[in-house]
Amino acid sequence: MSTPLPVTVYRIAARDPHAHLFEVSCTVDAPAVEGQRFRLPTWIPGSYLIREFARHFVGVRAECAGQPVAITKEAKDTWRAAPCAGPLTVIADVYAYDLSVRAAYLDATRAYFNGSSVFLCPEGRETAACRVDIVEPEGRPGWRVATTLPAAGASRWGFGVYRAANYDELIDHPVEISDFTHVTFEAGGAVHDVAIAGRHDADLGRLAADLARICRYHIELFDGPGARAPFDRYLFQVLAVGEGYGGLEHRTSTSLVCARRDLPRAGVAKVTDEYRSFLGLASHEYFHAWNVKRIKPTAFVPYDLAREGYTRQLWAFEGLTSYYDDLALVRSGVIDATSYLELLGRTITGVLRTPGRHVQSVADSSFDAWIKYYRHDENTPNAVVSYYAKGALVGLALDLLLRREGASLDDVMRALWQRYGRTGVGVPEDGIARIASELAGRDLTDFFARHVDGLEDPPLADLFASFGVTMRLRAADGPRDRGGTAGEPRGDAPPRVTLGVKLGGSGEAKVQHAFRGGPAARAGLSGGDVIVAVDGLRATGEGIDTLLGRHAPGDRVTVHAFRRDELLVFDVTLDAAPEDTCHLALAADATTEALARRAAWIGA
Ligand SMILES: [Zn+2]
Repeated sequence: MSTPLPVTVYRIAARDPHAHLFEVSCTVDAPAVEGQRFRLPTWIPGSYLIREFARHFVGVRAECAGQPVAITKEAKDTWRAAPCAGPLTVIADVYAYDLSVRAAYLDATRAYFNGSSVFLCPEGRETAACRVDIVEPEGRPGWRVATTLPAAGASRWGFGVYRAANYDELIDHPVEISDFTHVTFEAGGAVHDVAIAGRHDADLGRLAADLARICRYHIELFDGPGARAPFDRYLFQVLAVGEGYGGLEHRTSTSLVCARRDLPRAGVAKVTDEYRSFLGLASHEYFHAWNVKRIKPTAFVPYDLAREGYTRQLWAFEGLTSYYDDLALVRSGVIDATSYLELLGRTITGVLRTPGRHVQSVADSSFDAWIKYYRHDENTPNAVVSYYAKGALVGLALDLLLRREGASLDDVMRALWQRYGRTGVGVPEDGIARIASELAGRDLTDFFARHVDGLEDPPLADLFASFGVTMRLRAADGPRDRGGTAGEPRGDAPPRVTLGVKLGGSGEAKVQHAFRGGPAARAGLSGGDVIVAVDGLRATGEGIDTLLGRHAPGDRVTVHAFRRDELLVFDVTLDAAPEDTCHLALAADATTEALARRAAWIGA
């Protein structure tokens, strides 16, 4: 028998919007007799980097029964108050000026926070129930509260007291406070709200209709036609800005940042590229409500927010989610098959242009996310493969492979949901391979050894052939080194050449990455160098393709570039542009069997 722990009580107020300071307090009635410790997470689930949120705590103080009591720092993320009878309150100013979905933000236009950035956890009370009083700021009459924290007195969208069953739940419901607009729809018996902060003119009705189709698709994928969602309420918290893109998943909500042009405009019937990418992002985070928020790797049951949580499975939790995000758009009818194949082709192109896939597996990329994936630098494409993008392609290959055997990745996801998601048991490191083998009716260890733990590209061209999809690779037609996508073939134009670099920014020709083994890297150019001339003619970010376009593969050119403030000269031998742009199309001459498989896969 154990008696329930008393409730931990929090209060958060916008103390000084211009200084971006929240005042946050945490009160415990019966502190530990040896002196109560308080700890702040060092990372936020869903974003696998130690972020040291405690660095934004300023002026931490403590009171015991209303009287000041000593509090000292014991570690980067830990404070300890002097012994006291209680109640003990720790009060801190928290600097909040991070526009991302991972932290906290406060100014005169908006307040936003993740609990992991602002709420201390009293040691030993991780499982105690929590209450939080969200204080209404003065002089902001139009502001409301959007969160899926359960109310404990607060009205819908209102300020006041909210609750959580434990600390883990407290920090898994971010809070948006502003004059956001909102729209509501139903899916799977659950109320879904979309709250959009920031300046925008989105067509809310259109947005709700499209998101409803996508959400229904995901709910039914896991639990069948007409199924109920595994939650009663879900919230899309959207921040519209000039430039931005990102999202973070939570158990019954997601925070998204997008460019305002990504949102649908009234009177525009077509799904623009920008809107398609917004829907893909929303679909991605919603799928996470199952895959990673409920179906979790063993390493995340429970999360240890004091240190890294190592798993070799992010390729599945992020990669399979990336596979299903766009797949849900075509299967729910929001986009057509041609549009879907274009997106898939872009993902393949992105992976093909990453030399890092020859030195790092997606399993290793998962494990090292903490020190590599989130720490992008000039060497990243040469050393790192994205467990999102290549993970999605491994998921695609596994899906097509299983479909040829009469099963599918959908069956794998449903088995994961039944065995692990619904039970709260963590997925062991070999859990997905075991389930896939079971469903295929044969041992798939070799597939996982080659494509997950090994460096081999998934055999997509071969698989596509039995699904009535043609895959063609050719050299980029546009300025490939800046990520342009190709149009139609160039007819009898001479073969294009490449310098083997990615140029960044605009104006100057600054090398962001020099790809391993490419002409520039062989000659000694590196990321950070600024190319100023090719064969004695001035090179700019825009003009360099014209200068190089006069050459054939094998030609030698002299490149002048600044490294820091020193001018260096490089003798570069140009290569033929690699055939690394992928085009997918519905095959005109597919067999009846292939057409049937394709229809079952993407409905076309
Ligand atoms: Zn994700």
